[in-house]
Amino acid sequence: MNSGNHFVWEYQPNLSSDSRPLPIDASKHTTEEKLSFVPQILALEEVPAFLPDDIQPSERLPMSIGGIGIDQIRADFPILKRTVDGNPLIYFDNAATTQRPVQVINRISYYYLHENANVHRSGHTLARCSSSQFEAAREKVSAFIGAAPNEIVFTRGATESINLCAQAYVKQLLNPGDEIILTLLEHHSNIVPWQVIAEEKGAHLRVATVDQTGQIDMAEYAKLFNNRTRFASFTYVSNALGTVLPAQEMIAIAHQNGVSVLIDAAQAVSHIPINVYELDVDFLAFSGHKCLGPTGIGVLYGKSALMNAARPYQVGGSMIADVTFERTFFHKSPQKFEAGTPNIVGAVGLAAALNYLTDIGMDNIAAYEHKLIEYATDTLSTVPGLRFVGMPTRRVGALSFVLDSHSNDNVAEFLAGIGIGVRAGHHCAQPIMRHFGLEATVRPSFAFYNTFREVAKMGEALRYYSKPL
Ligand code: PMP
Repeated sequence: MNSGNHFVWEYQPNLSSDSRPLPIDASKHTTEEKLSFVPQILALEEVPAFLPDDIQPSERLPMSIGGIGIDQIRADFPILKRTVDGNPLIYFDNAATTQRPVQVINRISYYYLHENANVHRSGHTLARCSSSQFEAAREKVSAFIGAAPNEIVFTRGATESINLCAQAYVKQLLNPGDEIILTLLEHHSNIVPWQVIAEEKGAHLRVATVDQTGQIDMAEYAKLFNNRTRFASFTYVSNALGTVLPAQEMIAIAHQNGVSVLIDAAQAVSHIPINVYELDVDFLAFSGHKCLGPTGIGVLYGKSALMNAARPYQVGGSMIADVTFERTFFHKSPQKFEAGTPNIVGAVGLAAALNYLTDIGMDNIAAYEHKLIEYATDTLSTVPGLRFVGMPTRRVGALSFVLDSHSNDNVAEFLAGIGIGVRAGHHCAQPIMRHFGLEATVRPSFAFYNTFREVAKMGEALRYYSKPL
């Protein structure tokens, strides 16, 4: 890992034979000395594929997605060409944020170069153009998740979408003693907004537990519902473990109990196809930056009837039908929830990102990533001392592990030093970490532009790192 421009790990001569290079004071050594401690890992193109012999060569290393070569796809992401301290960048931190293809970057520039104006105000050419691009973005988002355009509210991101749902819709349902059901797998963004409104209203959170594989115990889940339950929310995909939750089944249980549901789809939207009508979900939240779009834009989907019953979350310009000093009439949803000037270019960029995903095909992406994450699991399972945290049968995007005798930070620093970016930490999901008796894990997280060779290289690097010197 770089600290300024310096590598910060090296071999410590006084360590016992089974210890590994540890990060120590970077200031004590020259850059050349530190570079000499960086392990010689195989070059990317030399890394063997650790796949069983009975798999056909064409299946060994899938080289295309939906008929589009993986090299062609990668060429769309300029940042993937960069190197890190002389090593090719391997970006395995996609759960934190994805990279953007040139189509999104160009779309943003084009908007500012040719279309920029405020929306829903003026009637001149640019204003009409900007408004129509903004509304076209809403249509694209709605088509992408199988919704109607008027069910899409633009927000700053998944966090704001969840807060909006909590404050605007759920809070008014709560009375003292009422309950909201969550799961142990939630990101802090899908815990704290509910905690805050529950505290305010004297309501309580009930939390569905998981088994040792990191999957929801469904028999127990059903038992959490009772006549005090007012709402349920859960993540579609765990950002910490990659577990895919049985969304349809969980929604059906909630509905049988007369309870509406929000799905936090932040970690699902770029990995698996989503259709809100098939799921019959009431609310769904996601962020643009986790599906190739810009930061600062997100989406809250909500069924029209529920959104129209919700109170405005923020108030001001654009969301009103008529204002006097005595009273104000609000527009219907979605405008009712979009007070002030929205993130217009964010919405336009998000539409370009969703077009990109649609062109490749979410089914194709899901199929490729399924093989990639299976391969990653197989590859990492051969690393001595590596223990997976959670082993769900259905997993997308991310996996979590710890390495015996090594701190998570050291593992991540070691990988960073050879160009491999992963996250070490609690992943903003402390309850699930603590359920497994941990404060943190190492989490590589994948996207469809990652390759099998990149995964193989990480496996090779970790095998090297885990071996006693
Ligand atoms: N939910 C999940 C499952 C997430 O992984 C994240 C981001 N890590 C969020 C919500 C919050 O997303 P944002 O920070 O983009 O609002």
